[in-house]
Amino acid sequence: MAYLEEQLETMPQEQLVELQLEKFKKQVRHLCQNEFYRRRCMEAGLSPDDLKDREDIKKVPFTFKKDLRDNYPKGLISGNWDDVVRIHMTSGTTGVPTILAYSKNDIETWTRCMARNFVAGGLRRDDVVQQAHGYGLFTGGFGFHYGLERAGAKVIPTGSGGTERQLRLMQEWGTTVFTGTPSYAAYIAEIAMEKGIDPIKDLKLRLGFHGGEPCSDGLRKRINERLGYRAHGGGMRVCYGLTEMGGPMSMDCEYECGQHIWADHYLVEAIDPVTLNYVKPEEAGELVLSNLSFEAMPILRYRTGDRVTVSFATCPCGRTHPRITSFLGRVDDMILVSGTNVFPSQVEYVLLKHPELSENWQLVVSDKRGLHSIKVEIEPVPGSRVDEDFVSRLEKELHDYLEIKCSVEIKAVGSLPRFEGKAVRVLDQRQ
Ligand SMILES: [Zn+2]
Repeated sequence: MAYLEEQLETMPQEQLVELQLEKFKKQVRHLCQNEFYRRRCMEAGLSPDDLKDREDIKKVPFTFKKDLRDNYPKGLISGNWDDVVRIHMTSGTTGVPTILAYSKNDIETWTRCMARNFVAGGLRRDDVVQQAHGYGLFTGGFGFHYGLERAGAKVIPTGSGGTERQLRLMQEWGTTVFTGTPSYAAYIAEIAMEKGIDPIKDLKLRLGFHGGEPCSDGLRKRINERLGYRAHGGGMRVCYGLTEMGGPMSMDCEYECGQHIWADHYLVEAIDPVTLNYVKPEEAGELVLSNLSFEAMPILRYRTGDRVTVSFATCPCGRTHPRITSFLGRVDDMILVSGTNVFPSQVEYVLLKHPELSENWQLVVSDKRGLHSIKVEIEPVPGSRVDEDFVSRLEKELHDYLEIKCSVEIKAVGSLPRFEGKAVRVLDQRQ
């Protein structure tokens, strides 16, 4: 078992908890230099000296996405502006973007966390990696790139897109590792098939590190099979992260039993979003994260809106840090249809249980005389037989699982959009 920083990664949990409390207190003091946080703490009647033990962490007010938006662009930077060397942000397609500013040390912390992830996931120095997460305002490309390089692999920074060239490079360089969104991995597999390239025979891919969007177990299984990761003795590792915490940050290790979150740099809490009490380990709750090490713009007790289960048990790999053991949905992705919450990941879960169906699908939400309706449009796998009976069984299955009526329309192969970055699965045509 390889580690990047063995002592820190396998630190006894009591020590980790002590270290977290120390760092958390220091961050609160640091944040109180910023006007927004000073006011927040004052309103909560909290002084940094009140934080004595772990229970006291709960006294610190939460931070919400709205706080980041309201204070755009520079309002939440609590470090020295002169020390800022990088700014990333979300696309902001649905309004004001959320940003994160980094100091030189922040970039270093991020790099080390990502490098730990890659080593834990089985990356070796002799690996050739095609890094296809987008470079730009999005955090994915840079976060992956730095971590991969630090871990000592050979990185080809292709960015996303140029699918035929990606495949050509994979053959010419004997690429062993591919990174990008899960939907892009699925798309590359589809194009390979079209071009007569058999990833198991013609390519050497053994590891995939894929993040940037939720991924169902069904899609993961397909990527593992179609890109040859499993056949070559490796597998697909899922990555989790968010701009507000600095970007990609946690990943599966070789045991694939949840994404490790480095507790010496991030504090993990899981709460009931209504009562705000902690949920029990392995019980579903909202993930709340604090950045314990960043200087420029650390955010404490950030309400991610992500429903997850977290395990604090030591992993079979020997790492003592907590893991996200299941990802039940991102509130941002949730759609409300006639009073029912629908997560696109739930729809994908049902669809991909059927080998007849491809991973090219979309959800169309529309409004008929005030009544909401949802329709799944999906392409079959080329050559597979999908008849009316199949469709009505699938509609029933979706209804049972989503608790809402949902029609299914089978589309011609190649007619639905493909994605090089994050997939857009929902077409909301409601007024
Ligand atoms: Zn592990």
